[in-house]
Amino acid sequence: MERENGRLSVVLPAYNEEEMLPKTVSVLREILEREQIPFELIFVDDGSKDTTWEMIARACDEDSRVRGVRFSRNFGKEAAIMAGLAEAKGDCAAVMDCDLQHPPAALVEMYRLWEDGAEVVEGVKRSRGRERITHRMAVGIFYWIMTKATGTDMSRASDFRLLDRKAVDSVLEMPERSSFFRAQSSWIGYKTRQVEFDVQEREAGTSKWGLRALIRYAVDNIVGYSAAPMHFVMGAGVAVFFFAVILGIQTLVRYFGGHAATGFTTVILLILLIGSVIMISLGVIGFYIARIYEEVKGRPRYIVAEMKQRANLRESEETARGERE
Ligand code: UDP
Ligand code: MG
Repeated sequence: MERENGRLSVVLPAYNEEEMLPKTVSVLREILEREQIPFELIFVDDGSKDTTWEMIARACDEDSRVRGVRFSRNFGKEAAIMAGLAEAKGDCAAVMDCDLQHPPAALVEMYRLWEDGAEVVEGVKRSRGRERITHRMAVGIFYWIMTKATGTDMSRASDFRLLDRKAVDSVLEMPERSSFFRAQSSWIGYKTRQVEFDVQEREAGTSKWGLRALIRYAVDNIVGYSAAPMHFVMGAGVAVFFFAVILGIQTLVRYFGGHAATGFTTVILLILLIGSVIMISLGVIGFYIARIYEEVKGRPRYIVAEMKQRANLRESEETARGERE
């Protein structure tokens, strides 16, 4: 064994999870205690509208190993993951959903691999759980692009991962404002191992992903990680150009042969085709400019409204620091 008794920080983003939270806390606590793994649980309340924060606060009061961070509004799961990692003090940190869809048994397995020297342990989905066919297809295309962009197989990847301290710091050092944890934690390299797991059914509450949220998420991450759409635009430009050359030659031949080109059909089709290619291309470029604009603004990834730890030590520390600055 390379490492022994290192402390494990478990980062759990939570958005409207009041129904699952108490159960998650007790399940994790029980299994980690049984396995004799020293741990801390860091819940990041991503601007929940229900009583999630009260639940977290209660768990913190009961157990000093549980800590809470509350965002000032919903900033999204990625931001919550980053906030949790920034708070993690352990020798390694794991990220998992707080709806117990990521089985805690796999967490233990990840920790053991880390003890054996792995620096990044990726949770790989053996099955995706129940999903609609349209969803599955869209997800397929998304992952195909992301796999190309990151150079690692993303199709079965998940946010369920365990990172060594070094890897956590590497991820936190990345300056981009809009993060994509799965891709970043693969991109950094390090000694990587995998653990397969089955996605569990959600026991209570609902999935936080509507169709629109998923599309926005996909576009954001593709734009953030891949120049493939730009290459595609370039390819379309070249194709249209060759098409234009051939059509141009045909038109000239006809002209010199004495029959001028007939009808408007060709003209209309060409205008439509070229017009739409140009519009789409502008749109694609627009996505990238929007991304550059977002990054250049340099706004914080998230805003923390409140931190919680037993006896509220942490909170008073924070205010004190805030006042000095
Ligand atoms: N989540 C979050 N912020 C959001 C949406 C989701 O922190 O804006 C958390 C959520 O509480 C859960 C995890 O991300 O712990 C995964 O969300 P969910 O279970 O809704 O997604 P699914 O499992 O359906 O992909
Ligand atoms: Mg879930």
